[in-house]
Amino acid sequence: LVIPAWQEFTSKMKYIFESCTDIRTGHVATYIPQLAREDPDRWGMSICTIDGQRYSLGDCKIPFCLQSISKAFNYAIVASDIGADDLHSFVGHEPSGRLYNEICLDSSGKPHNPLINAGAIIVTSLLKKGLPLADRYDFVRQEYVKLAAGGYVGFNNAVFLSERDSADRNYALSYYMKENKCFPDGILSLREELDFYFQLCSLETTCESAAVMAATLANGGVCPLTNERCIDSRPCRDVLSLMYSCGMYDYSGQFAFHVGLPAKSGVSGGMVVVVPNLMGICLWSPALDKMGNSCRGVEFCQKLIETFNFHNYDSL
Ligand code: GLN
Repeated sequence: LVIPAWQEFTSKMKYIFESCTDIRTGHVATYIPQLAREDPDRWGMSICTIDGQRYSLGDCKIPFCLQSISKAFNYAIVASDIGADDLHSFVGHEPSGRLYNEICLDSSGKPHNPLINAGAIIVTSLLKKGLPLADRYDFVRQEYVKLAAGGYVGFNNAVFLSERDSADRNYALSYYMKENKCFPDGILSLREELDFYFQLCSLETTCESAAVMAATLANGGVCPLTNERCIDSRPCRDVLSLMYSCGMYDYSGQFAFHVGLPAKSGVSGGMVVVVPNLMGICLWSPALDKMGNSCRGVEFCQKLIETFNFHNYDSL
């Protein structure tokens, strides 16, 4: 067992989880009504180790939308499908130092990285390019289900519809990228490609399932519960590198410094954290800080690092 003293470990996790319940700062996202209506008091946590030990607390079975968390998994899926070199001929690997939805490109005219909107929209356009949209959607959802060992992966149509209704920025960004020839040849209309992007933001899951997805990344791309390879080993390493440098919006540098773990957050208040070779963690609490990360989620990670030596450089 990678964590032999399981009882002791889980009781410490429970203590950390409960000590974050008191945090009442932050605000839920309000740019669409479906997120504005979320209860800020929701708080769930789930972990899954690379040898399949699981532990969950709080609202761990309540579905939430993946939103930007999907960007990490979509990248890993495309990189496994077409290869990292092909993918990165369209998107860079540098933190942008700008807002996640800013209209800007790097010095070679590409989106800075796959975890900001610009890069994620390009990655989505590469996802099974050439197939009908319905088949592309089915493919991605099936890959998510595989990553989650058959766990819950649903779709929130109300979120999709309102994302699409409030999409001016993503349209502006996409037209700007079209003008700058950022997209691969042979894509559908921008309307269709953006629908697909919004659909993937609207995929929903639970802490329990997302912890398994994170554990698959912690385990080098092989799902610990099914032993099925879901992500090739190189793209798995690559997505963790990107999550480490770019996964937490404009808090990414501070998170890498203080917590030292690859993570990806989303505007729904969800967050996946990977402890490589050990476990995947999913945290969910909708109240966000100024950077757009879950207040309780970030605090949980800080306490985690005070309690255990999980920081990337703790082993030195
Ligand atoms: N779907 C939203 C967008 O693309 C939010 C992404 C996010 O989680 N920050 O703008």
